[in-house]
Amino acid sequence: MSTSERRLGLLERLAEGPVICAEGYLFELERRGYLQAGAFVPEVVLEHPEEVTQLHRQFVHAGSDVVEAFTYYAHREKLRVIGKEAALEQINRQALKLAKEVAEETGTLFAGNICNTNVYEFGNEEAARQARAMFEEQVGWAFEAGVDFVIGETFSYAEEALIALEVIKQAGLPAVITLAFHQAPETREGWSAAESCKRLADAGADVVGLNCIRGPRTMMPLLEEIVPAVNVPVAALPVPYRTHPEEPSFQSLRDPDYEDLPSGRPFPTALDPFTCNRYEISDFTREAYDLGVRYFGVCCGAAPHHIRSMAEALGRTPHASRYSADMSRHAFLGSDPALREQNVAYKSEL
Ligand SMILES: [Zn+2]
Repeated sequence: MSTSERRLGLLERLAEGPVICAEGYLFELERRGYLQAGAFVPEVVLEHPEEVTQLHRQFVHAGSDVVEAFTYYAHREKLRVIGKEAALEQINRQALKLAKEVAEETGTLFAGNICNTNVYEFGNEEAARQARAMFEEQVGWAFEAGVDFVIGETFSYAEEALIALEVIKQAGLPAVITLAFHQAPETREGWSAAESCKRLADAGADVVGLNCIRGPRTMMPLLEEIVPAVNVPVAALPVPYRTHPEEPSFQSLRDPDYEDLPSGRPFPTALDPFTCNRYEISDFTREAYDLGVRYFGVCCGAAPHHIRSMAEALGRTPHASRYSADMSRHAFLGSDPALREQNVAYKSEL
């Protein structure tokens, strides 16, 4: 292939402009009725592969430049909890295959994924060894599937993220590493966002930043400290929920209008009233872009309309933009001269 025909890799695309990576597969497939909240294990790739493929396609249609294999939480520890460790390799290989097919059919990037192990514990050598072994097996399968890069995400221990990064780099692949900050503006070992990301960038991460847990409003202050601290592209993938300084994480949100929640809090199945609208996602995207963020996405809770808003805020017109709102043709609220005056005049009565 000549250079002009060759598909650009992640780093080449980032050199040309921002990259969007849609996420949020767990929550969206849970809402659609194909994945169980709680354990949150992506068995759907085996049980309903067509639903995963469709969601990959819908996110690309909405503007994602990346198809991320749905291997989030498809690791040894999560499968141990549900008694299905035997299916570990099959789930990973199947998730990678589904993502690769959509990436190939759409000309998008194909990403592998690893995440917080829930095994890692600060200062515990044995736990660090176990976490490394879990990363090695998953990165191995991703490498064999031919991923363009690997995303290591949702780490609340920066040390665990550093181990994940080492494993990805040993495989010779580009690494996008994103941390998850809970209520405290520091990692579980007590490092600031700027310090953690700087250490990750210094250790060879190609992209560093934040994903999950915090919504746009409470992720932004952390991004403001990360961008000037590193010399690699910064990633921002908030959850699309209205977190605020008193309740900075989506797990800490409380709903004053509904008390009978099965888990005592809106997370994870009753977050609907806190969902950001698409315009809030555009605002966040523009603000983060102006700050210097270059790798974008929306995490748990994201739906395709959020990704379309993000893409449009970056000046793109994904296929889904053909259906972006045009209220000028609304029978009552519109302005098109073809509309009936009796309805337009009734607008204030709606
Ligand atoms: Zn998430």
